[in-house]
Formats: sequence, C-alpha cells, structure tokens
Amino acid sequence: MKTILAGLLAIVTLGWGWDLLYGPGPSGSSVLWTMRQQGLYLTGLYSIALMSLSMLLATRPAWLERPLGGMDRVYRLHKWSGILAIGFAAAHWLLEMSDDVLKATIGRAGRLPKEHYSAWFDALRHFGKDMGEWAIYAALAMLVLTLWKRFPYQIWRTLHRIMPAIYLTLAFHAAVLAPPGYWLQPVGLLLALLLTAGAISSALSLTGRIGQRRQVSGTVVSVCNSFTDITAVQCRLAPGWKGHRPGQFAFVTFNRSEGAHPFTIASADRGDRNITLQIKGLGDYTRGLAQRLQPGQAVSVEGPYGRFDLARRNPQAQQIWIAGGIGITPFLAWLESLQDQSDAAPAADLHYCTRDRASDSMIPKLEALCAALPGIRLHVHDARQGQLLTSEKLHALHAGAKRAEVWFCGPQGLADSIKEGLQRTFRSRLRFHQEAFEMR
Ligand SMILES: Cc1cc2nc3c(=O)[nH]c(=O)nc-3n(C[C@H](O)[C@H](O)[C@H](O)COP(=O)(O)OP(=O)(O)OC[C@H]3O[C@@H](n4cnc5c(N)ncnc54)[C@H](O)[C@@H]3O)c2cc1C
Repeated sequence: MKTILAGLLAIVTLGWGWDLLYGPGPSGSSVLWTMRQQGLYLTGLYSIALMSLSMLLATRPAWLERPLGGMDRVYRLHKWSGILAIGFAAAHWLLEMSDDVLKATIGRAGRLPKEHYSAWFDALRHFGKDMGEWAIYAALAMLVLTLWKRFPYQIWRTLHRIMPAIYLTLAFHAAVLAPPGYWLQPVGLLLALLLTAGAISSALSLTGRIGQRRQVSGTVVSVCNSFTDITAVQCRLAPGWKGHRPGQFAFVTFNRSEGAHPFTIASADRGDRNITLQIKGLGDYTRGLAQRLQPGQAVSVEGPYGRFDLARRNPQAQQIWIAGGIGITPFLAWLESLQDQSDAAPAADLHYCTRDRASDSMIPKLEALCAALPGIRLHVHDARQGQLLTSEKLHALHAGAKRAEVWFCGPQGLADSIKEGLQRTFRSRLRFHQEAFEMR
C-alpha cells in the first residue's frame, strides 16, 4: 500500500518538477512568494491525485484484486489515499491562507503577477475557488467522522455517500485553477487522466451503479440461529451467479433500506448456487437478524470478492491457519471444499480462538469437518480457561519449520501481536495473509 501511494506521489512530483524546469516560469518574483505558489500547486496536485485514486478504488474494481491482494486491501488503500488526500487539501488551504501573513511580513513586493483571463473564465475561477474552499471543509468534517470510530457506522455510511459530490467539486476547482501552462505539459496529461477516472467513478457511485454487474438476486432458503449469537443463513442464488472460491466474501442485501453488508461465504461452492453465511450479531443490524429473516424472502448478493484463497498457499511452507471468533468463516469454506479431496488436502494447524468453548456451536462443526482431513490439526484456544493464543505458543509448536505461512482472520489486535512475534523468529521466511473484517 505504501509503495502505491509513494509511487503515485512520485509520479505527480515528477510532472510538477518537469513544469518547474521546462514550463513558462514567472519572472521577477521573490523566492518566498514563488515557494508559496509552487507549494500551493504541489499540495493541490497531491490532493486531487490521491482523491482520484480513492474514488476509483471506491468502485470496487475486481481487476485490481489480484495486484493489490484482495478487496479488503483495495478498501484499505481507498481509505488511506482518501485520508492523505484530505491532509494535503488542508495543507493546500493553509498555504492559500498564508497570503495575508506574507503580505504583512515581507510585503507585496515580489508577488507573482496576476494572470489576466476573459471575464467569464475569471468568474468561473472565482466560483471554483469558493466551491473548493467549502468542499475542503466538508471533506475535513468527513475525515474527523471517519477517524472517530465511535461515530455510528450507519450514519457515517449515509454521510459518506456525498463524497463523490465533494470530489466533483474539487475536480472542478482543480480544472479551472490549474495554471493554463499545465495543459501543455506532462503534468496536464496526468491531471486530465486522474480527473477523468475520478469523475467517471463519481458518476458510477452517484447513480448507484457500483458493483451492479456482479449483483445477482436470490432467495433465503433457511435461517438457523444456534445458541450462540451466530445465525446461519442459506441462500439460493439466481443463474447469473458464477460461483465462488472458498474464502471469498460477498456484499449481501437482505433489506434495501439497510443496504449491503460484507459477509464471507462460509460454504464451499458445489455448483448448485447455494451459499451459506454465518453471521454474528456484532452490531445494530446483525444482532436481531435471525428474528427478521424469513425463508423465502428475497436477497441480493454482490460478488464474489477477495483473495483469501487456499489455492494461493505455498506448499513448501508450514501452514498456520488462525481464526478469532467469527473469523472462522473463510476456514469453514476451505475445510468444506477439501472434504471431497481429503488426499490432496494440505497439512496445516488450524487454531481457533473462542471466548467460551462450552457454549460455542462452531466447535462440533469444526471437529466434524477436520475428522475427515487427517492432515489438519485443530487447536481450540478457550479464553475462558485462560488458553490464549500467543506467538510464543506458535513458535514452540513450529520451531523446526524452515518457512511459515499464516492465514489469519480475526481481531486486529491479535493479528498484530502474532505477526510481530512470528516476524522476530521467522523474519523473511514468514508470509502473513490477513482478511480484514473492517472496512472503515
Ligand atoms: C470482508 C469481510 C467479511 C466479513 N465476513 C463476516 C462473516 O462471515 N460473518 C460475520 O458475522 N461478519 C462478517 N464481517 C463483518 C460484518 O460485515 C459486520 O459485522 C456487519 O456488517 C456489522 O453490521 P451491523 O450494522 O450489525 O454493525 P454496526 O455496529 O453498524 O457496525 C459494526 C462494524 O461493522 C462494519 N460494518 C457495518 N456495516 C457495514 C457495511 N454495510 N459494510 C461494511 N462494513 C460494515 C463496520 O466496520 C462497523 O464499524 C465481514 C466483514 C468484512 C469486511
């Protein structure tokens, strides 16, 4: 992720630097005024480039899953490019405001000469400037709400839908306020490409067409609420469904006004367009879901997405599969898909971390699935009994392994501590794959 963001910023810097070296430069202006002006251009370019990338990623481009490592990574990149873009937009705004400070300290002498445009273009530029300022305030407010994790997700999600409109306003601001000389330079071509990609993505989002081609309708076949807070929902999908690979997820809509929620498809693909979801009551919507769902009701499924794919494993590496709580769902799909080919199943240690073994309905299911797969060793870590999974325990278990490959789905804190601990021992011989259950 860092490489992509740094790469984009480097390309923008090259474009900006090219114009600085070979473009028509101002004459007779002081260093400070020139620095302010160029700082204004550079922060503006960084901001709109990152925001365009963020908009493009918001369209859930399935073709980017392979290079980026899955849709959860696409979303993470979307989030961080958006956050950085707003950071640069704030810097851009501060530089714009520094005008008065410079006038008061070094005076107006050496200021860049004012450009002259036709009356209508001047009016357009003024309008673009005012709109840009309001759009930056709105984007900053959205950034605060995004980082404030306690802010209710559903309200945040509704507010977040105005981001494409904010983007279009900022794109207009960038197009009319970019120096006219840019449009004859590589930086102008880059800007035009980014603005076009961002504008098309915004239009797709505003017209509700994101992911439309991957959506199929279906029917809820059964709803089963175990004695823990997990609801198993089986759905039968329409013929348009092209199947899924074990470990993938989908955006599922049971109720149009609620919208789509991402859930892992916790069953193997048997070619019959039946999928099973295991849904834990983690929030306002999912908590009472079992009471609200009825067999026969319509469902819409968009997907599949994700690269938490058993086929990508390294056969030479020690397989360590770790699930925390409801993070077991992709592994359920893996285990189910291996049932018919137990001879070809890899050797792996599956660690399942549960709050309370005694009341966990997943354990009998896991035990039954693993019974048919002699290569898979199931380890249950019962927090109630103080059996917490640590990197030390994993290290003791796999001390002889030349290389290790961890597939992790569970809480971020557990992922961080295990990854850090194992990296100390395995160093570059460790590969760590993680499915993030959080998109905000
Ligand atoms: C790739 C992926 C796979 C997942 N698989 C499963 C699964 O198999 N079983 C399961 O029980 N849970 C799964 N989740 C988590 C599940 O999506 C959330 O628990 C659920 O959406 C919470 O909704 P809520 O309104 O009840 O909770 P809220 O209290 O409203 O939200 C709790 C958190 O859930 C996330 N969330 C809520 N609504 C959405 C949404 N519409 N889109 C994206 N994220 C949202 C946000 O991070 C939010 O902070 C998965 C999440 C992801 C990203």
